Amino acid sequence: MPPTYDIDKIKKRKLCFTCIGEAFLKDQVSKQGKCGECSYCNEKLECFSIEKLSKLIEIAFETHYYRTSDQPTAYDYAMMKEFNKTGTVRAKQLSMQ
Ligand SMILES: [Zn+2]
Repeated sequence: MPPTYDIDKIKKRKLCFTCIGEAFLKDQVSKQGKCGECSYCNEKLECFSIEKLSKLIEIAFETHYYRTSDQPTAYDYAMMKEFNKTGTVRAKQLSMQ
């Protein structure tokens, strides 16, 4: 049976700036966060709720990334084919030595 998650409880968890590795987000939380107990390290520091952080991360993804095709382009396909050919040739050369 798959685990169940209480999304409302997770949204209310707090994450402090010291628990964040990404520099920009860490800076935002340290400057704009509210002082509270981090749900992960239990220190009383500036925190954002997981709900607020997830919205910021969602906006960043929408702004800076776009979904690409899950299929290779013609160029990718040609490169993969060439790589395989080169790899095979190289393996034959190595086995002859
Ligand atoms: Zn923390």
